[in-house]
Amino acid sequence: MAPVGTATVLPAANDDRIALFDLQRQKARLEGEIKARIDAVLNHGQFILGPEVTLLEERLARFAGARHAIAVSSGRDALMIALMAMGVKPGDAVFVPAFTFAATAGSVASIGATPIFVDVDEDSFNMDAAALDEAIVSVSKAGKLVPRVVMPVDLYGLPADYPAIGAVAGRHGLTVLADAAQSFGGELGGRRSGALAPISATSFYPTKPLGCYGDGGAILTEDEGLAEAVRRIRSHGRTGTGDEATELGLTGRLDTIQAAVLLAKLEVFERELARRRAIAARYDKALAAAVTVPTIGEDAESAFALYTIRVRDRDGVKARLDEAGIGTGLFYRLALHQHPAFRDYVGDELPVSERLTGEVLSLPLHPDLTDPEADRVIEAVLAAVRDA
Ligand SMILES: *Cc1c(COP(=O)(O)O)cnc(C)c1O
Repeated sequence: MAPVGTATVLPAANDDRIALFDLQRQKARLEGEIKARIDAVLNHGQFILGPEVTLLEERLARFAGARHAIAVSSGRDALMIALMAMGVKPGDAVFVPAFTFAATAGSVASIGATPIFVDVDEDSFNMDAAALDEAIVSVSKAGKLVPRVVMPVDLYGLPADYPAIGAVAGRHGLTVLADAAQSFGGELGGRRSGALAPISATSFYPTKPLGCYGDGGAILTEDEGLAEAVRRIRSHGRTGTGDEATELGLTGRLDTIQAAVLLAKLEVFERELARRRAIAARYDKALAAAVTVPTIGEDAESAFALYTIRVRDRDGVKARLDEAGIGTGLFYRLALHQHPAFRDYVGDELPVSERLTGEVLSLPLHPDLTDPEADRVIEAVLAAVRDA
């Protein structure tokens, strides 16, 4: 923005762009509080598992309505640690949606288990319960792997259909681990993300709905035994401060400084969620006639990590928006089975996931986006689609 008193100077072209994410405005809004909390950490010096970590864990659990919250080093580590705590091992099958971020399946493969890709529902973008049932039956029949865990993803912030998925998982004797990396703050049936499955993993990557200033994540669970195992595994497999490793673990703790940042951001998180939802509603209203807008079930609230539309000629629309100075994102351009890293896990056909990779487009959405900016995005999308 032009400094005060230079109103006649036009902003540089770059200043006029509307970015997909903008963390600088939030920083300006919360800077005092964040710096004070970081200063407190520098002064007490407990950089690992300091008091801010414990306080954050209490507040995360209370916010989500979960029994236990354990802060860890990233969302991907949260998934890995949860799987390790559940005793998942080589030879076990973990069912994941095919349309998600690579870390969902990466966490499974990293501990030697086998990710099985399940197609998603066209409207919610989330794991399809009927496709899950088929995949479990097919893996059981093949007899090579032991079906163990179902790992739905709450894509773009919308909780997966846990009642339907939990029923399928339960029928086959499998446990549900939620990849809630994008959905902290989301709700389903009056319960919040983190309390929708027996165990959930979330991420505090800077651009997630609740983000820190580096990598971070958390595991939320109802199960005391799992919570204890997670605490040991995040700290080299040790109990308390003892030096005896009772099981394999990793350096999986959240830094105290990141906990301090998150404590400051959690104070305003409800208001930020409301702002995200207000922008999404504005987009819905103006865009629904021209593109496919997100479908949010009546009993659900998305955390709107991303606002993702579906359009024909997606690449053309994206290029025109780029020219108009509107930042967009492709989440995801590849389904899991299309990544070279997962070539060993390719199985059944995944038509919906493949189709979505060519149609999805995420629009700018963050709590500091103004109404005039949202309207500029809307105008540009309408024009880009008209020209398609
Ligand atoms: C971001 C994300 C992760 C990984 O989180 P990190 O904190 O970046 O490790 C896992 N799964 C999904 C669906 C994500 O969006």
